[in-house]
Amino acid sequence: MMTPRTMSAPEATNPPPSRTPEVSVVIPVFNEAEGLPLLWTALSETLSRISVTWEVIFVDDGSSDGSWEILSGLRRTEPRVKALRLSRNFGHQIALTAGLEAATGAAVITMDADLQHPPSLVPELLRRWREGYDVVYTVRQDTADASAFKRLTSKVFYWIINRAGRIHIEPNAADFRLLDRKVVDALRLMPERRRFLRGLVSWMGYRQTALPYKAPPRAAGHTKYSIHRMARLAMDAVLSFSTLPLRMAFYLGSLLALASMIYLGYVLALVIFTDRAVPGWSSIIAVLLLFGSFQLVVLGLIGEYIARIYEETRQRPLYLVAERLDGHERPADNRPPSSL
Ligand code: UDP
Ligand code: MG
Repeated sequence: MMTPRTMSAPEATNPPPSRTPEVSVVIPVFNEAEGLPLLWTALSETLSRISVTWEVIFVDDGSSDGSWEILSGLRRTEPRVKALRLSRNFGHQIALTAGLEAATGAAVITMDADLQHPPSLVPELLRRWREGYDVVYTVRQDTADASAFKRLTSKVFYWIINRAGRIHIEPNAADFRLLDRKVVDALRLMPERRRFLRGLVSWMGYRQTALPYKAPPRAAGHTKYSIHRMARLAMDAVLSFSTLPLRMAFYLGSLLALASMIYLGYVLALVIFTDRAVPGWSSIIAVLLLFGSFQLVVLGLIGEYIARIYEETRQRPLYLVAERLDGHERPADNRPPSSL
């Protein structure tokens, strides 16, 4: 069923350096100075053991802890390392996107910088790719250092997204995956701003396969995902793959309208047929508050969608690159002389 990919056999003669590599590894970096040397040791060790041509693209997502200095130093000693520095912190998903757009390989692997995505899995990702799969995504078996809270919220999140959206996302799928060139190119056709890559990749289809792995605790530093950021990502995920929240407002409204009609009938019947006029101040307040808050919630929801429409229509670039060390650098001195 699968047509194995034909790979050019490792060549005896040295390939010219300008050739596009077989594999690009994309790594977003946000204040990871402490862990980068560890990551590089593990990753370069793995890459040197497999016989493919490769490049590693680091995307510095506005770090302020010296990560960039480490990356540019690495670039000087290893020309197969490329580094992009975004003009500020744009967030994990955008940094990944920037890296995917800079990658030139026939396959692109994305992984985190904190060694929670073990480089030792790279050969297995490549093996599945050669078997003919276009997307090899990894699934965390258990996260050594995830709190009970993170685990619970993640469960709830996947439950919601898989019911509300028209896509299926494997619970605990990680942003550690291999994408074939055609998938990377397809992804570039999706310029949407609020990106939830796991969702986009699932939406695209192609031949996908899952690879379970055990996530070790972070090698160094601390998580960059606060509760607030996680909530934002979850919101982006649900809103960009589902309009169910909008329809739910409609269903809820209809249900309430029906209930109110029945109650109104009852009230009118009391007034017309009996003399037990109800002095129901508290029930009126209760209903008022209930309806008022429902309206605000629904209005807020609609607002979320409108805000996203507004963001898309402005057509701003997804990110800005401040500096690039990838062979496409701007000539350093094209600024006007300072005497001007
Ligand atoms: N990251 C990034 N920009 C951000 C936040 C995180 O590039 O604004 C990077 C970070 O350096 C790491 C990866 O994204 O390589 C995943 O982040 P983290 O490990 O903090 O997330 P967690 O594993 O805790 O979900
Ligand atoms: Mg991590």
